[in-house]
Amino acid sequence: MTIADGASQPLDYKMLATRYQRVLEVARTISSTLDLPELLRRIVHAAAEVTETEAVSIMLYDSSIHQLRFEASTAGSSSLERITVPIEGSIAGTVFTTAQPLFIPDVSKDSRFFRKVDSQSSFVTRSILCVPLIYQEKPIGVLQALNKKQQGNEFGLEDIETLESLAAQAAVAIVNARLFQQSDLISEMVHEIRTPLSALTATSYILLRPNLSDEQRAEFVQLIQSETSRLAIMTTDFLDLAKLESGRMRFTPEFFEMKSLIAECVDVVKPQADGRRVTIHIDLAPNLPPTNADRGKIKQVLLNLLTNAVKYNKEGGDIFITAQCVDEAICIAVRDSGKGIPPEAMPRMFEKFYRVPDSEGMAQGTGLGLPIAKRIVEVHGGKMTVESEVNVGTVFRFTLPLSHET
Ligand code: ADP
Repeated sequence: MTIADGASQPLDYKMLATRYQRVLEVARTISSTLDLPELLRRIVHAAAEVTETEAVSIMLYDSSIHQLRFEASTAGSSSLERITVPIEGSIAGTVFTTAQPLFIPDVSKDSRFFRKVDSQSSFVTRSILCVPLIYQEKPIGVLQALNKKQQGNEFGLEDIETLESLAAQAAVAIVNARLFQQSDLISEMVHEIRTPLSALTATSYILLRPNLSDEQRAEFVQLIQSETSRLAIMTTDFLDLAKLESGRMRFTPEFFEMKSLIAECVDVVKPQADGRRVTIHIDLAPNLPPTNADRGKIKQVLLNLLTNAVKYNKEGGDIFITAQCVDEAICIAVRDSGKGIPPEAMPRMFEKFYRVPDSEGMAQGTGLGLPIAKRIVEVHGGKMTVESEVNVGTVFRFTLPLSHET
């Protein structure tokens, strides 16, 4: 066990036995849910209780960016939400790579302490006990307890033992919840695929009828073509989403000029926009600094927003693309003059497979583009939002941190 000085007093077996009892009770409660955010919330609260600490947080490994990401904290996740910590040179990263617990009695003396977390949460960390989350001999993240509740008290060997044993149960529960999430996605996909498949089957039977006119026949063939193309798009989108959700999608950041990427995307959607007499206006702040992100993935985000802005616009409408720097981030907005989104649909806009009911007749789609785009932006440390007014139009905004500093 690799631990720093300060946890070297002998084990208190009586205390340990009581703690184990509690860990077992807690393990039963935590693993009774398959909802990942709720599970993580339960784990951090249980860990804070059994180790009697001021705060506990959980970080999970995100292989797409090779960093650890804050997923839950007893201090509430909003301020720490989506902060990522580098593997190299950080306390959590050391625990993750060595798969050994680490106790730091005084973080102010440890250069590996990641100060950004304290500065964002107004929490003052004195000491850290960090243990790995290991599933089948592979680390999947870390669990860390900060500051014993009673000042002056130090972490002891009992705390390390207790936290490690809780981490072992937590890791299994997390992997199970993730698998469940995946199977959930698969069942949703199967459900969604059924509709175009039955349309295809029904249409092909009708086509066998001898008494169809040429016009009717052409209409049914067109229906088959559009349903097959919808299935093809759905399959690609679905694979993207599954990869994003399981952290298997690779991201390769590079510095690029947003101006040229926007111009490239406008070129792609221009024929579609011209077909509906939609005019695209671009207004970019001067001297935008280069963006550090995966260019191909950001192109996918922009193309999704732009195609939607064309598809759900009115004939002869307008699209305005703006980009500016706001609070250390580049903020891109795509505004359209379309039919807008009814208020009751707004909370569901980034849900998988969700389409505003009357969109079906208006344009072809899968309802996967927006959840994919939002997730891509979030993996980059940014945010995506939507505002809309019925019969006036909709604006989608997303941010990308400028330096992508983590
Ligand atoms: P798709 O366009 O393939 O259906 P998306 O995930 O991109 O999937 O969008 C989901 C739904 O959100 C669309 O079906 C449409 O109902 C609605 N939507 C998206 N963008 C706009 C927009 N700019 N204006 C109005 N509704 C929109």
